Amino acid sequence: MLDPSSLFGNANLNFRSFASDENILQHILRLSEQQRGRSGTPPASKDAVKNLPEVNITDSHCKVSEESKEYPRCSICCEDLTDKATQLPCGHLFNSECITQWLGEHNQCPVCRHELPTDDQDYERMKAQRQQQNSSPQSQ
Ligand SMILES: [Zn+2]
Ligand SMILES: [Zn+2]
Repeated sequence: MLDPSSLFGNANLNFRSFASDENILQHILRLSEQQRGRSGTPPASKDAVKNLPEVNITDSHCKVSEESKEYPRCSICCEDLTDKATQLPCGHLFNSECITQWLGEHNQCPVCRHELPTDDQDYERMKAQRQQQNSSPQSQ
């Protein structure tokens, strides 16, 4: 009989001890989600989600040291990304299921809040106005 914990046990234990940052992040995310409540950001555009690139995880995505290789981690479920990941325009990597589900409710990267396009025209109008105000070079 194969004990699954013997497959994942030791190798992952090392990584897990570094996971506290991500756990805090998750906690903050959950808090800010509660604060935003139901009227928060609209879901990301379905087309935008569909067109997100899937990347193969290579050493260039990992922190490689002499003793270990630290894979990038999906900050939604805190699992290591060892094979394939979906990349947001901001460069952050996630499990494709996790980020698809997330973007079904929010249009922002859960890590850096980079905004993706939405199908919500009111929201897009507001966003365009906001950006115009922010980037107006002639403001005296
Ligand atoms: Zn995930
Ligand atoms: Zn991001």
